[in-house]
Amino acid sequence: MRLKDKVAVITGGAQGIGRSIAETYAKEGAKLALFDVVLETVQKTAAEIKSHYNVDTFAAKVDVTKIEEVENGMKQVVDTFGKIDVLVNNAGITKDNLILRMSDAEWDAVLAVNLKGPFNCTKAVFSPMRKAGGGRIINISSIVGLMGNAGQANYSASKGGLVALTKTTAREFSKKNILVNAIAPGFIRTAMTDKLTDDVKAALAAQIPLERLGEAQDVANAALFLASDEASYITGQVISVNGGMYM
Ligand code: NAP
Repeated sequence: MRLKDKVAVITGGAQGIGRSIAETYAKEGAKLALFDVVLETVQKTAAEIKSHYNVDTFAAKVDVTKIEEVENGMKQVVDTFGKIDVLVNNAGITKDNLILRMSDAEWDAVLAVNLKGPFNCTKAVFSPMRKAGGGRIINISSIVGLMGNAGQANYSASKGGLVALTKTTAREFSKKNILVNAIAPGFIRTAMTDKLTDDVKAALAAQIPLERLGEAQDVANAALFLASDEASYITGQVISVNGGMYM
């Protein structure tokens, strides 16, 4: 078991990539704290993982844009499990539009969840990780944060900003043995990409050397590696999980 008795907080953990990371960590013996915006949904996911993998789980309604909810959520995790070893900043949203049509509200909402959210969670997790003698922060960025994408100015800026936040946090937290890395997934089959038409998905697959969209498990495998002892000399890096779409 690669994460035996480690405590991992996963934001946006109710479904999609966050849920897949949670299940992958559970298989490796981690205790899980899942944060999401709808309490019933995240509680259901936590209960299913607990019964399926026989690990301790905790679920809370935490909107990552709200620092009070984030701080309260982290405190509840420490009260429940005694420590925090891993934070996965996974919660993210899209509100796509061309720049000239993009409203302030669309810009602000995406930046608030995808960039301010990880900033809030990073601040709130520092003290518990310092007390635990170190930790791992894994930020879920995107291929679009590296290469840009027409129609996603807000999303690409948030995900590019998250790469910069990853590198800065890695430099600031290294003395406390807190390692900080990002994963930049390509196009992965989840609720987020289910919104795309079949034609758009086929056009995307045609641009991918491995000729398919990725699975949430492909991202979770990288998140497991970054949380494990095997990654103990890796910080400030971005791992692309994109089928070769961007090199
Ligand atoms: P998803 O299926 O939509 O899951 C995201 C989860 O985050 C949802 O449960 C969502 O809740 C939750 N969430 C939204 N706003 C939140 C907030 N303010 N606080 C806490 N939780 C919040 O998306 P996904 O595809 O798994 O994406 C997960 C991460 O991977 C995101 O950061 C995304 O940008 C990134 N990513 C995805 C892809 C892809 O192709 N799918 C590619 C690259 C990167 P509700 O649904 O109830 O709002």
